[in-house]
Amino acid sequence: MNRRSALKSLGLTAGLVAAGNAFEINSWSQTTPAQTAASAAAPFTLPPLPYAYDALEPYIDATTMHLHHDKHHASYVDKLNAAVAGHPDLASKGVDELVANLNAVPEELRTAIRNQGGGHANHSFWWLILSANGGAAPKGELGKDIDGAFGSFEKFQDQLSKAAGSVFGSGWAWLTLSREGTLKIETSANQDSPLSSARTPILGLDVWEHAYYLKYQNRRPEYVSAFFHIVNWEFVSGHYADAKAQHKG
Ligand code: MN
Repeated sequence: MNRRSALKSLGLTAGLVAAGNAFEINSWSQTTPAQTAASAAAPFTLPPLPYAYDALEPYIDATTMHLHHDKHHASYVDKLNAAVAGHPDLASKGVDELVANLNAVPEELRTAIRNQGGGHANHSFWWLILSANGGAAPKGELGKDIDGAFGSFEKFQDQLSKAAGSVFGSGWAWLTLSREGTLKIETSANQDSPLSSARTPILGLDVWEHAYYLKYQNRRPEYVSAFFHIVNWEFVSGHYADAKAQHKG
């Protein structure tokens, strides 16, 4: 980044922060009791898709995106809100924090938080790791570390694809970072998150049938190959750098 664009980006950031604060102060002062009750009843919200529903065509079709985001992900959010109703201590936590500390959740709520909270956490991450401008291979530190851990990017792709194919029933294949700084490929059943096992998801691949069945029917390997055309490596690499820094800190 040259000096001019650095200054420009600083100015933009400062402007956004100022606007954000103003908005926050403004909306806080204008919050009505009814609004407070509504947000207390539904502390978790469905994040909007960061792109158009048809942006990932032809790899993931718009109909699948509508169902996957507006129905499936929305349902995890609704059921998570229902689960934490009457538990302000849980409702005030972030979903990743809840899922990372399932043992801290009252036992009668644990399955609901694991499934619905996991579904919300996993899908919030899923939309971000995809992009119409994705594909190819990661550069920089993540590219280097993948080569180190798996031999090459092609070998990594091959292993992640095999893992995705090995999930029996519904689940996910993941690239995760351990507390010790090790990159690993793993799978999880249902909506279980690696966060619950103290590992940070770096990349996830949703292999529930709802993610691909309309377009690919039973051809999961075809969907897995398509996935690699739309991975947002720019986001994933930045997320990896953040996760690594946090583990060191
Ligand atoms: Mn899904």
